[in-house]
Amino acid sequence: MMKNLKTKLIVVYSIALVCFISFLLIYSNLHIRKEFTTFLKNELQQSIEYINIYCMSFHKPIDKNFFTYEIVSALNNLSKKSSLRITIIQHDGTILFDSDADYQSMENHLYRPEILEARKNGTGMSMRFSHTVNTDMLYVASYYNYYYIRAAKSMATINAFIESITRNIVIAGIIILVTSIIVTAVIATAFTRPIKESLQFINTFFNGNLNARILNYKDDEMGYLQKSMNQLADNIQQRINELTNEKNKLFMIIESIHDPIALIDEDKKIVIYNKAFASCFEYPETLTSKYYFTVIRHSELNAKIYVAFSQKQKISFEETIGGNHFQIFIYPFAEPATGILLLMHDVTEQKRIQQLKSDLVGNLSHELKTPISIIRGYLETIKDNISDQKTAEQFIDSALANVERQNAIINDMLKLNQLETSSYITNESISLNKIITQCVELLTPKIQNKNLAIVMDIESLPENIQGNAFLAEEIFFNIIDNAINYNNPGGSITITANKQSKLLTIHIADTGVGIPHDELPRIFERFYRVDKSRSRETGGTGLGLSIVKHAASILGWTVEVASSTKGSIFSVHVPIS
Ligand code: ADP
Repeated sequence: MMKNLKTKLIVVYSIALVCFISFLLIYSNLHIRKEFTTFLKNELQQSIEYINIYCMSFHKPIDKNFFTYEIVSALNNLSKKSSLRITIIQHDGTILFDSDADYQSMENHLYRPEILEARKNGTGMSMRFSHTVNTDMLYVASYYNYYYIRAAKSMATINAFIESITRNIVIAGIIILVTSIIVTAVIATAFTRPIKESLQFINTFFNGNLNARILNYKDDEMGYLQKSMNQLADNIQQRINELTNEKNKLFMIIESIHDPIALIDEDKKIVIYNKAFASCFEYPETLTSKYYFTVIRHSELNAKIYVAFSQKQKISFEETIGGNHFQIFIYPFAEPATGILLLMHDVTEQKRIQQLKSDLVGNLSHELKTPISIIRGYLETIKDNISDQKTAEQFIDSALANVERQNAIINDMLKLNQLETSSYITNESISLNKIITQCVELLTPKIQNKNLAIVMDIESLPENIQGNAFLAEEIFFNIIDNAINYNNPGGSITITANKQSKLLTIHIADTGVGIPHDELPRIFERFYRVDKSRSRETGGTGLGLSIVKHAASILGWTVEVASSTKGSIFSVHVPIS
């Protein structure tokens, strides 16, 4: 485009110059020719006058006999000296004398234009090509009643002069033209450079390089324009930065929300969305500008969005998508543009907790109801047989055992609740070796009752690690207690430890009944027991391993279990720094 402007300037200027030079050429040509002709005509007239005076001086009639040798010589001499062709013509057109040709062979000249004019006006003039002398000639004739004197001069000199002037003008014109083109090109380049720079700047700026500016502008109108463009760019950049900041804040807010959110415009295309939304629908590409129904592959949700669009009404409903449960809100909006806001509040966890709570209440009531019914049964029997003291004592013992069981359940529940709710578990220096030994010591009567052998190899455990003594005790006490409870009489318990650079592992292996493979994932659930009657026999609450799991997760430990018909191995992994 800039090239065009420059070329245009050069072309227009060149055309104007060519026109001017052509005009100058034609004008000068015509003018010079006219001036020269007038000058020549005057000269010829003077010569004619002079010839006439000369002829008259002889006081003889000017006819055939007039031209004596002397007069002819004089006239020829004059013709030669003045480069004139002199012709004297009788009034009837017959040639009496001609300086340049044989007058006798010349035809009648009465109708030559200059002669015709001279007869009419006294003088006549004509310019034409003479075949006699083979050149352009200017003829001037004067009429003197009985004869005409005609003087003619060749135009060759004038033509040569005009030719030379024309050539000089053309050469000068070409030089001026070439110089002008160069000068115009230089001026046009200097003139168009700032425009070119400005256009380049605009292109770069609008292609996204907001730091682009015009450098080195001059102190003129163009420079002022460029300076203003720079200021405009500053303002735009500042506005864009502000808007980008606002946008980023908005995105940060949207991203920080864990619930899927999307904004869909009136063309049904997604405009804004957050990561949660993208991962919810597992769409492989970026979602911006995609039709919502190509991303959301869920017919019920799509149908509701369609309804919200057509009825422009807020809709809220619950839906399960990809295994998660959502409370979905669709808000149609009209300002600043038309569209809908899709907000999917993930209530999966809430639902799960609700479910857990109702399960817990059910389980707990069930767990507490059984011993209460048993206690009531015993108490009623005692009431009916109050006189039979021995039976009464027996039944009171049984009732007390059930009260004990109830107490154990309530204690374990309180412990679990404490673990779930307390956030002030302190981090302290503990000795696993000591804790495990203490647990074994506490359980020694039970171990002896069942005649179990206990093997311990935990020397590799470090002196101290960071943890919490209460939680660690809960973990090891419950696991060792289970290893006793579900062991066969006369069996054994082996507690070993090994240390890797960043991990301690304590294995508690028993030779008991084992846990069926498909029950393994459930044994950490509350009140879950593989064999209910056996658990009850051992006084188990069904909450021990739940406490273990919770305590371990608070400490950042993990507990694994492997089991066969020959026994079970519980492994406690303790990361150390
Ligand atoms: P409980 O109080 O009944 O022992 P736990 O939560 O401690 O409850 O254990 C849950 C269930 O896991 C037990 O009822 C039992 O069936 C099974 N279990 C736990 N530890 C062992 C083990 N060492 N050997 C076999 N079964 C076990």
